[in-house]
Amino acid sequence: MKKVVLLGSTGSIGTSTLKVVEDQPDRLRLVGLAAGNNLDLLVEQARRHRPSAVSLSDPAKANKARQILGEGTTVHCGAEGLMALATLPEADIVLIAIVGTAGLQPALAAIRAGKDIAVASKEILVMAGEAVMTEARKHGVRVLAVDSEHSAIFQCLDGKPSSSVRNLWLTASGGPFRQLPQAEFGRITVEQALKHPSWVMGRKITIDSATLFNKGLEMIEARWLFDMEMPRVQVVVHPQSVVHSMVEFVDGSILAQLSTPDMCLPIQYALMYPDRVASDRVRTSLAKLGRLDFEEPDVSRFPALDLARKAGQTGGTLPAVLNAANEVAVEAFCDRRLSFVGISATVARTMDRHKVVEHPSLDQILAADSWAREEARRG
Ligand code: NDP
Repeated sequence: MKKVVLLGSTGSIGTSTLKVVEDQPDRLRLVGLAAGNNLDLLVEQARRHRPSAVSLSDPAKANKARQILGEGTTVHCGAEGLMALATLPEADIVLIAIVGTAGLQPALAAIRAGKDIAVASKEILVMAGEAVMTEARKHGVRVLAVDSEHSAIFQCLDGKPSSSVRNLWLTASGGPFRQLPQAEFGRITVEQALKHPSWVMGRKITIDSATLFNKGLEMIEARWLFDMEMPRVQVVVHPQSVVHSMVEFVDGSILAQLSTPDMCLPIQYALMYPDRVASDRVRTSLAKLGRLDFEEPDVSRFPALDLARKAGQTGGTLPAVLNAANEVAVEAFCDRRLSFVGISATVARTMDRHKVVEHPSLDQILAADSWAREEARRG
């Protein structure tokens, strides 16, 4: 029985993780759940799974949860609550699916407490990939990918060293504007950007999929997860989202992982690793699909890819700056204060103004994050 702590239980990845745990009652047990503000859903989840501890962002909501759940469940709150859950003594693995940067410190705390981590929150490896992977090696724990692309690469690599790889190929659906002419990009609305062709996800990642910043963040994530320099991390557009990513080996052979899009599969793979266990959730009929298409990404309409390549290649604090500026810009776009093309322009401008710190400490990363947020807001 693997004991799981889930940070971000009320979100899109969080609720899919609950389904996976319910599919595998003899193998997985939830011992900790953390949410932001959704008290009602957290309480319902806690009643169903009886974890020993839960956490909510807001102290008043945590108090309410305490009254409702009674003595069997310890209720924490805020950033300290996330740290308490990440280091819960009985946990074997901590799955981090919090949107934004709040998952970074709990991820490091979990590693230092000797727990494997399963990472959905891209921000963690984008901001602090070097530090996280170094700590994980030092403490002998695994960093498992939950993102479907990185799960695919992990499955294809199957333990082969980075020296056996010519290129990693991340697939991108291309988002809702894959075929939209550049001249029309100035008129893109929030509603249009929120309509993803193949995945149902949280709001921030859906916008990131439309700008392709999501793929950019994944490029940097892959660089650290698989110990691969940026020039060997490639992107190809694949609108069907059935090939989740590929590894091209030095002998020219390409291995791919295919399945109909459903996040339950990579979540289950990460939680059950190294075992592969039966599940009826995902069935893929290639004959019904008929065809799989691939095309070159258009970096002039989607500058996010070049910006991410630059940030990943430069390293230091620049990826954290890209990530923070993008978060601020996405928020401004969703509030209709910034245009769609303004998102990448804001990120580019903020990156240009940043003085990169090489091999940064966690404090320097967090300082770069705050600086970038202020700078991006300044416009
Ligand atoms: P959602 O917006 O659906 O969910 C976010 C979750 O984080 C919610 O449970 C929210 O709680 C919680 N949360 C937010 N802030 C805090 C905080 N300070 N403390 C505790 N909990 C907090 O996002 P997704 O599930 O879509 O994405 C989560 C992460 O996974 C992101 O980094 C995303 O990039 C990544 N990811 C998502 C994929 C997907 O298919 N959705 C695929 C691959 C990666 P509440 O709702 O209660 O406020």
